[in-house]
Amino acid sequence: MGDIRQHSRAPLARRGCGRLSSLAGGLALVALSLGACAETPGGAAPPESGAASGTPAETHEMLNAVLWQTSSAEYEAVVRQSFRMARMSLDRAMADPSWSAALEQTGAFAGLPPALILDLDETVLDNTPYEDRIIRVEGEFTREGFRKWCEEAKAAATPGAQEFLRYADRQGVAVFYVSARAEAERSCTLRNLKRLGLPLRQGSDQVLLRAKDGKSGHRRRVAARYRVVLLVGDSLEDFVAGSKAAPDQRRLLARAHADRWGRQWIMLPNPMYGHWEATFYDFDYSLPRADKLKKKYRGLKATGTR
Ligand SMILES: [Mg+2]
Repeated sequence: MGDIRQHSRAPLARRGCGRLSSLAGGLALVALSLGACAETPGGAAPPESGAASGTPAETHEMLNAVLWQTSSAEYEAVVRQSFRMARMSLDRAMADPSWSAALEQTGAFAGLPPALILDLDETVLDNTPYEDRIIRVEGEFTREGFRKWCEEAKAAATPGAQEFLRYADRQGVAVFYVSARAEAERSCTLRNLKRLGLPLRQGSDQVLLRAKDGKSGHRRRVAARYRVVLLVGDSLEDFVAGSKAAPDQRRLLARAHADRWGRQWIMLPNPMYGHWEATFYDFDYSLPRADKLKKKYRGLKATGTR
């Protein structure tokens, strides 16, 4: 979902298993994978031989991440902490007309009305029931699977998001939701936001979906009319262009803006998916799942130290 993962393939784990079968040639990986495919609906491919001694064959790439996000006190705490920080920053930003959070903000902006830009998935909307469905049934993200989830319009709000957004709304801050969701997902997205009672004063116009010039393009357009007081997201792309890069480059980009984190930029955790993960398979979302996993294991070797 990336957010939201920008590919639209439909192969489930079973397809990945078929491919692995056809590659059978004595590789330990294949032998292990066949075992996984035979026994688990998700069909997670195991690591390369020797990469993780003792790793159970029956697992899914997102198991720990989804458990953490859905059930840990630590997730609850860090997200609430983030929205508290966001509220404190918002107060400071409102009192300081020279404050802008958007790199795309140019020209004189002190007199412009304030606006807040948030990502949607895993920032405002909690899609973990869909991620749970991926682990149990669907094997991996597909556009069709995500659309079905969107149509249900039953994502909860992340902890503290509703309170923060209502506070911002009471302060007269315009709220823009910027997402890589597809245009076809607009009405179900709006239904979900309305169901949660989130600020939608400008209606559909404040929900900015997938654009050719990405989230940075949306920020530039908002910044032409508003002073952007805060950015909130769960992915580097929610703050700065250039997120689709190698892991080291992404970390350097985050470091280059060190003084903005926790002040003008509030990052929420998402260990389940995102550019941070897709970079290991060069953002080639069409790759079979087992190939992605192999590349991620190679990434583990390449990025063992900071
Ligand atoms: Mg997101």
